[in-house]
Amino acid sequence: KSLHQIHSRENLNSFVNVRSQEELYREVEQSQERYDSGKPLSSIDGLPIAIKDNIFVKDMECTASSNILKGFRAPIDATVIKRLKGKGALIVGKTNMDEFGMGSLGMYGYDEKKIIKNPINQEYFAGGSSAGSAAAVRAEQALASLGTDTGGSVSYPAHCCGLYSLKPSYGRLSRFGQILYSSSNDVIGPMARTTDDLHSLFSIMEGEDVNDSNCINFQTISKIRNRERLSDRQGEGSLKGVRVGIVQEFDIEELDARNRDMQEELKRLLQDRGAELVDVSLPLVKYALPFYFTLVPSEASSNLSRYDGLKYGHQFDFNASQSSAQGKTKTELFDYIERVRSEAFGINVKRRVILGNFLLSSRFEDFNEKVIDAQKIRRLIIEEYCSVFEKENIDMIISPVVIGERPPKISEVIGQSDKKNPVYEYKMDYYTAYPNSTGTPAITIPVQETDQRYGEFPTSFKIQGYFGEDYHLLRLAKQIE
Ligand code: GLN
Repeated sequence: KSLHQIHSRENLNSFVNVRSQEELYREVEQSQERYDSGKPLSSIDGLPIAIKDNIFVKDMECTASSNILKGFRAPIDATVIKRLKGKGALIVGKTNMDEFGMGSLGMYGYDEKKIIKNPINQEYFAGGSSAGSAAAVRAEQALASLGTDTGGSVSYPAHCCGLYSLKPSYGRLSRFGQILYSSSNDVIGPMARTTDDLHSLFSIMEGEDVNDSNCINFQTISKIRNRERLSDRQGEGSLKGVRVGIVQEFDIEELDARNRDMQEELKRLLQDRGAELVDVSLPLVKYALPFYFTLVPSEASSNLSRYDGLKYGHQFDFNASQSSAQGKTKTELFDYIERVRSEAFGINVKRRVILGNFLLSSRFEDFNEKVIDAQKIRRLIIEEYCSVFEKENIDMIISPVVIGERPPKISEVIGQSDKKNPVYEYKMDYYTAYPNSTGTPAITIPVQETDQRYGEFPTSFKIQGYFGEDYHLLRLAKQIE
């Protein structure tokens, strides 16, 4: 069915690369044999999974939707892919995305004409940057998918396409084999149709990795507050004994009526199921976005400096006659690199790289100080978050995913200069960039409303937990589901 949907709904542009039918059929047969002999490798054996194109799948092209990586084949499987394959997952293909993960709407892939469309209504965006991963699951081209989240790229497309998603704690899933955008923010996260699927994928992928020094053992961390025991005591659907923080600072003037109503309804539902609501204040929330757009471009410009048209991917004609770098003078080489980067990077990547270069350049001390300030602010944001969780003894906080009643319409953004203005997109990350600044887990939970006012688009809300309490948060999501 997935393969059929991939081909019949090609116009969604959710995939950049699909595996060959023969290979897929062979793997399906092998999986079938395992089921027939009563020995499936796991609950995800044979499950069709789509992978964002910035995660390595061995021998498949991996471009992060950038022209600069055209033709680059992944020499290895990313650790998460290796673990999924080991449990029988069926990797169907690589999904389209905003170049290097920079964007919120799925319109900055390497082919400008191939905007990723929302399967619910193709006149609308599917969110971003993991737009293809969300569209693929919504269109049943895969049963689950992997995205990456720097400042909302898993949560937001899941919201637009009515899916569940998990942005895990920072360092919980290995990023070995992931093309990085912002090293101190990036995490890999699953999207699916149920919390059970999220749970299965997460538990298979998580855990220490010798190839990634950021990926640590969370066993001890998750015992700090001993929340796991609490969830074991609960009956199905019950939130008895669960304390939920209601964050004063999330209630901002710009929040639309739909989100506002939904938050109120959610509070009632949580109380009905036995949860206790606790008013909390996180005054530093408003600094998460300025922090994000200071540190992230700096890390991006540094991470992307390796793409010079020499080491990886597409090589450009060096001097019309020769395409080799050997025997060139320094100036010729620099000219070449400049030309390659000018031609191959898209507009959004250039914006981030140029901003990052300014911030990091030794010529601009004022800017350098801002990067240091951003890091100090992050430390304060984290301390505030943890101390509120500890002092108030709360299990989670609730939050909208994004301001706005539905995803933007493609025709309202493309060709409209004010909407193409990057600041419009930056503001979209107000709620989503927060859990990346704290490095803490967040789950998007879709809501099927019957209210006709908002048309066919579902909405969603987010629950956010304490650092390392990903399993606890997953269990709470299941109780709410
Ligand atoms: N929209 C944000 C950005 O462009 C988030 C992207 C992401 O999480 N990868 O940076």
